[in-house]
Amino acid sequence: MNHRLDDARRVVVKVGSALLADEEKGAIRSPWLDALAQDIAALRARGTEVVLVSSGAVAVGRGHLGLLRPQLRLEEKQAAAACGQIRLAHAYQEALARHDLSVAQVLLTLDDTEERRRYLNARSTIETLLRLGAIPVINENDTVATNEIRYGDNDRLAARVAAMIGADTLVLLSTIDGLYTADPRLDPDAKLVEEVHAVTPEILAMAGKAPPGYSSGGMVTKLEAARAAMGAGCRMVIADGREAHALGAVGADGRGTWFIPAETPRAQRKHWIAASLKPMGVLTVDAGALAALGAGKSLLPAGVARVEGSFDRGDAVRVVGPDGSEIARGLVAYTASDARRIAGHKSREIEEILGYRGRDEMIHRDDLVVLGQDNGEQDRTRNGATGTP
Ligand code: GLU
Repeated sequence: MNHRLDDARRVVVKVGSALLADEEKGAIRSPWLDALAQDIAALRARGTEVVLVSSGAVAVGRGHLGLLRPQLRLEEKQAAAACGQIRLAHAYQEALARHDLSVAQVLLTLDDTEERRRYLNARSTIETLLRLGAIPVINENDTVATNEIRYGDNDRLAARVAAMIGADTLVLLSTIDGLYTADPRLDPDAKLVEEVHAVTPEILAMAGKAPPGYSSGGMVTKLEAARAAMGAGCRMVIADGREAHALGAVGADGRGTWFIPAETPRAQRKHWIAASLKPMGVLTVDAGALAALGAGKSLLPAGVARVEGSFDRGDAVRVVGPDGSEIARGLVAYTASDARRIAGHKSREIEEILGYRGRDEMIHRDDLVVLGQDNGEQDRTRNGATGTP
């Protein structure tokens, strides 16, 4: 089966250090980066949203600060990252500006994607950047990360980001062209695995069996990333990034190992909302909103007649009709107290009432599951997905 990028709507591209940085010289490989920028511009021209997760800060900073000993202490690595990150950001900005693309730097720690409020804030910042047409360039915030900076963490970070923003495709560009049935340098019969539908113990064993060098955490963390991405309904590809225009090549011939989830991010998210969350409150809607929800629209504050319960932004709530029967479940965009204040009001009044401009919707349709409707869309194409407006 031939997978490509041209049907992707929102792509996260993870760039490995070794592709971008010449560690010895502490330099960024500009021709490679320029080719990547061209490929990104081509994706964008087709309407695909692109988020970059880029490693390379430590590698660039090391050479620059003359920290070339093989073993660095944690604080030296953090210093190298601080120095390298600003150079990376600058290089991305220059390369993408040639294609009239704006760049925005987002530094995250894995904790940010676990703690709820920080998660929601990071998510809406990235969503906003995409809406404004910018390319978010994300890296781990290495200077404050408390654990050892580990190569491979960005594979996991990229998978978390992809899940967080509902990306449909995650591309890991690295120095390996995919998962092999065995170490290809030792076993002439080793074959590239083209497609994986579940990260089973057999698949994990393929990464684990190979000696260090080939596996060295590299493939194992990539498989962990694949598991996380697939769990969120996001497909992932491990592809060889060494040649210039590697991203374009993934788009053109799809070579690499593809990890294909059973569901799209949207369908996955909707099942998750419908099944696995404990509703924290109840919104009673009027007849007009009831009809709008049936037609697949978002729930606006104007259609909410009553708010019960105590919930935070992003919590699950039940939506009931005027007769009290449950019609939907969703993730609410306001806290219970703010929801009470804007209930029954037009969206344009929100700012005046609350003193800040939140979302126009009380529950956006992407966060809403209308019971008894087929909310699971299997179509992953741009035209098929409704997407975030
Ligand atoms: N955050 C590290 C850096 O930018 C790299 C971590 C990784 O490659 O996984 O240097």
